[in-house]
Amino acid sequence: MSDGLPARPYRVSVPMKATLLRDLLLLLALAIAPAEKLYANPGKWDVYSVRGIDYVRLDDVWRFYGFAKRTGRPGYVSYGAGDRTVSLRPSKQDFYVNNYRYILSYPVISEGGTLLISTIDMSKLVDPVLRPRLTDSGKITTVVLDPGHGGHDSGAVSPYAREKDCNLALGLKVRRKLESAGFKVVMTRDKDFFLTLGERVAIANRTPNCIFVSLHHNSGSRSASGIETFTLAPHGTTSPFARTRRTEDLAGNHQDSENIALATAVHSHSIKKTGAIDRGIQRARFSVLCTIKRPAILFEGGFVTNPQEGSKISSDRYQDMLAQCICDGIMRYTYNIHNRPVMRQRSGRGSVRVGSMHSGSIPRASTSPSR
Ligand SMILES: [Zn+2]
Repeated sequence: MSDGLPARPYRVSVPMKATLLRDLLLLLALAIAPAEKLYANPGKWDVYSVRGIDYVRLDDVWRFYGFAKRTGRPGYVSYGAGDRTVSLRPSKQDFYVNNYRYILSYPVISEGGTLLISTIDMSKLVDPVLRPRLTDSGKITTVVLDPGHGGHDSGAVSPYAREKDCNLALGLKVRRKLESAGFKVVMTRDKDFFLTLGERVAIANRTPNCIFVSLHHNSGSRSASGIETFTLAPHGTTSPFARTRRTEDLAGNHQDSENIALATAVHSHSIKKTGAIDRGIQRARFSVLCTIKRPAILFEGGFVTNPQEGSKISSDRYQDMLAQCICDGIMRYTYNIHNRPVMRQRSGRGSVRVGSMHSGSIPRASTSPSR
């Protein structure tokens, strides 16, 4: 415990096993990534356990990335370096990187004037977003596009648009653009028919070297609008969109870092180009995200129930623009991950990733949270 944090009610909680693993991974990370700029003393992260959740100090986070305080979003604490600015607020789960919105798994907490962020958010959101080149997807050659709903399942319906039709039209346009860019594309459906969620996941899980992009549109009040992108809630956290308070390790959690990096690339391109309201990159435990063994996102391209947006998302011109955004985001993601050698070491059921962003150089989220 150090620097201004009171001895109580905190308890520094670094289990021996975690410490050994961290040290081992730190050595490996240093050995294989000598060019990475590492915090001068990267092994010295103080981890604070508050009400069963592990946190680190944001001051240490800023130091690790070489960030300095700067002016950012009004009412937010902002730090950054170069063209990167990160903004957040005490007691809130809003988290912005370059003005793109994310929802943290746990609120930032302020104790005695010191801001703390959970180690889960640090390893599963902050670092894969700030350093996507260190994620480890292996080689990606194929995109599985999954236009949601179909057949008797229309999804959201309004006088302005029908979701299943918008999803399919968008998917077919994304396919054409991705194929022109050199990707192989597999569609879970290319016509108006019904598939179960399990069938959609099975298609992705038997397709090698792929990522999975499920395409949907939203429903809500007439005034609700904007784009949101979902990724699987990290292991050990709950999600406001989960039907149950499940926190177990799901198949989709083995791609936590890739999921958030893919979401970032697709979501940010879409918000920037369309100017739509940014509803954020959110966490969920939707069926298609839980059991998938590939990097996966569920993209919501707008609200069929909003008169203006509903008309827009069913227009050929807007669909074409949105399809280009999704294609550009996927290309950005694959560029980021292919531009750097990757190395993977597997041990038993769980995998230990070596040389990825959450190995050693930053505090690892506990794999067995006590809550
Ligand atoms: Zn839907």
